[in-house]
Amino acid sequence: MTAAHILGFPRIGAKRELKLALEAYWRGEIPERELSSVGRGLRERHWQCQRDAGLDLVTVGDFAWYDSVLQTLAHLGCVPGRFGFDPRSLTLPQYFTLARGDASHPAMEMTKWFDTNYHYLVPEWNADTRFEGGVDWLLQEAKEAGELGHAVKVALPGPLTLLHIGKIKAGLSHKLDLLPRLVPAYRRLLASIKALGVPWVQIDEPILGLDLDERWLAAFRPTYEALGPSSPKILLATYFESVAEHEALLKSLPVSGIHLDLVRGPQQLAAFLDGYPESKVLSLGVVDGRNIWRVDLDKALASLNQAHDRLGERLWVSASCSLLHVPVDLDHEKTLDPEIRGWLAFAVQKLDEIAALKQGAGRDTQAIAPALMASREAAASRRRSERVLSDAVRRRLDALSERDTRRPSPFAARIRKQRARLKLPLLPTTTIGSFPQTPEIRKARAAFKKGAVGPEEYAEAMRAEIRQAVARQEALGLDVLVHGEAERNDMVEYFGEQLRGFAFTENGWVQSYGSRCVKPPVIYGDVSRPSPMTVEWTRYAQSLTEKPMKGMLTGPITMLQWSFVRDDQPRSKTAFQIALALREEVLDIERAGIAIIQIDEPALREGLPLKKRDWARYLDWAVRAFKLVSSGVADETQIHTHMCYAEFNDILPSIAALDADVITIETSRSDMELLEGFGEFRYPNEIGPGVYDIHSPRVPDAGEMLKLLEKAERVIPLERLWVNPDCGLKTRGWPETEAALARMVEAARRMRARVPQSARAPA
Ligand code: GLN
Ligand code: ZN
Repeated sequence: MTAAHILGFPRIGAKRELKLALEAYWRGEIPERELSSVGRGLRERHWQCQRDAGLDLVTVGDFAWYDSVLQTLAHLGCVPGRFGFDPRSLTLPQYFTLARGDASHPAMEMTKWFDTNYHYLVPEWNADTRFEGGVDWLLQEAKEAGELGHAVKVALPGPLTLLHIGKIKAGLSHKLDLLPRLVPAYRRLLASIKALGVPWVQIDEPILGLDLDERWLAAFRPTYEALGPSSPKILLATYFESVAEHEALLKSLPVSGIHLDLVRGPQQLAAFLDGYPESKVLSLGVVDGRNIWRVDLDKALASLNQAHDRLGERLWVSASCSLLHVPVDLDHEKTLDPEIRGWLAFAVQKLDEIAALKQGAGRDTQAIAPALMASREAAASRRRSERVLSDAVRRRLDALSERDTRRPSPFAARIRKQRARLKLPLLPTTTIGSFPQTPEIRKARAAFKKGAVGPEEYAEAMRAEIRQAVARQEALGLDVLVHGEAERNDMVEYFGEQLRGFAFTENGWVQSYGSRCVKPPVIYGDVSRPSPMTVEWTRYAQSLTEKPMKGMLTGPITMLQWSFVRDDQPRSKTAFQIALALREEVLDIERAGIAIIQIDEPALREGLPLKKRDWARYLDWAVRAFKLVSSGVADETQIHTHMCYAEFNDILPSIAALDADVITIETSRSDMELLEGFGEFRYPNEIGPGVYDIHSPRVPDAGEMLKLLEKAERVIPLERLWVNPDCGLKTRGWPETEAALARMVEAARRMRARVPQSARAPA
């Protein structure tokens, strides 16, 4: 039977019900019983949505209290030993301690799930890691769904992916050494699922989209041979990349079906159709699980029909990956421009698309004629909408040349002129941009958005914040000041709201980690800048002080990476449009007399493709987009960039190619380890390694920071070093911020005092 199904549904709730319940529970306001019932209610609602849409199987196992990798570890009876919990009787409070830590246990580490903005908890692998017992939550959920009369498919991260995404902590030479212990645990779990009468399990192995070495590849067959006999029928799911190079391996595995992501890897279909085994179903992900555009039904049907000719009823229809990465329901968007709204599909709408595609695949499309018509109309409206295309933007981009992405002089010449202009001391002190977003700031913004406060009154409230921030920085003795970013709700949203081509949703929340959600903007059209976005704030801040004031911008790649991006042109093209708008902003800031402009790119690395062979192309356009923003200024204007919370050592040449005069990076958590890469690589420009972690209210003493500076000096010459925190301070309170910065300034002074006057680099 051709089946329509999904790999997973967002668990957070259309109104973030799970977030609210979790946070109330953590504050002790509701008992566990109440939290459980919110979770159950959400699961029931989401299964019903799938059933109502006409899907043939509902997916169980996509629900998690905090994270699905952690949830899987709980099912398998594997929790890091350092917490001292018994995995056979793990309680919900203990589960949350694993995720969030407590006074005596740092939380499990968190990192991004492949190239998404979803963060999972990283399994900790040790020589003594065991998989014993485990909670029965998944079995209960499968039972719940069965009792509601649903046809159930249970979804789980696969054993090889689980091992691969974990981190070796101690005493283990290879992650695969744990496989002989892990496989029996999966067998037990799968057998109990089978005992409930569940016909299908979906086992996700997205690592198949990475560059895998022989040892990992060779582990697939024995693993799945071992799982098969005790398990319900297995649908092996791959996503986020083409797995065409593993076509022979996948076809030969003893599983009952394979899922392919045809959005990311449309070309792979042909390779799989050729000689696809008679015994297997093939699930095709033709609806985009990573973006919010309506599917083009005609195009999707073309692929499905081609597959149907070969496979008949063994064809399954799905979204490319779990719908976890898109918001829940477009029906809750009341203020979105109706034209733009007509182009979008959130998770609930995607269920209808999948159901319609199943109905239409391989058949006369009469039955889905209304859906087809609506899809064609939406596509046509998007193609010809004036909101989407701007001739002016396109003309300006076409007129650009290589000259526009290069500073007038090389760094050595620029820095001389900048030093002469700025007259900064050795080891200049600065911050990354934002200062505490106090409840008063948030209150003022909320009142302004509601219309309770007029624009002039709001602007005056923000100016008052700037005055305070400047006065505090002067009192602290910092060398390069910032205005504090009080007026910015979010570093992408603030710019998006002022640019053409961006739209914002009311409820377009996507889970980022635990109870945290983000609401990415939608880039639907050519991007341009109707008027300056930051100039007045920065100019005002500069008018209050003799010290240099930094202008602050979010870079084009970060804007792109943290938005839903249009799918009707290459990402690079959208990046260049954003870059062009930001370039104009940079030039306006420079014209206002500002000598230093910072362009933040914390998400540069996130945009890297999953396969190394595609890195160079991405890095090439990403670097060019940044340089388009930064290269229009005079030599005397100093360009800074900032990056944080990622592994940067393997893209150092590209970071250097940005040719920012100064880069500030987060390094204190790794004890300056990151900086060693910069030293070895001989990073040529100036660099400000973070000397303290901004994630905790803890105030380190000057001695600690001094030690980090000494470490930094071993790899970067003193005259090219800056002194700053790891990242922006918006999540902190003022008392700890002032205390920490005072000690940071103190550390810089002590370090300077050691350098004989005569040895200092001339300006
Ligand atoms: N300028 C931003 C801030 O200080 C940078 C934030 C970031 O790196 N994520 O908040
Ligand atoms: Zn940062």
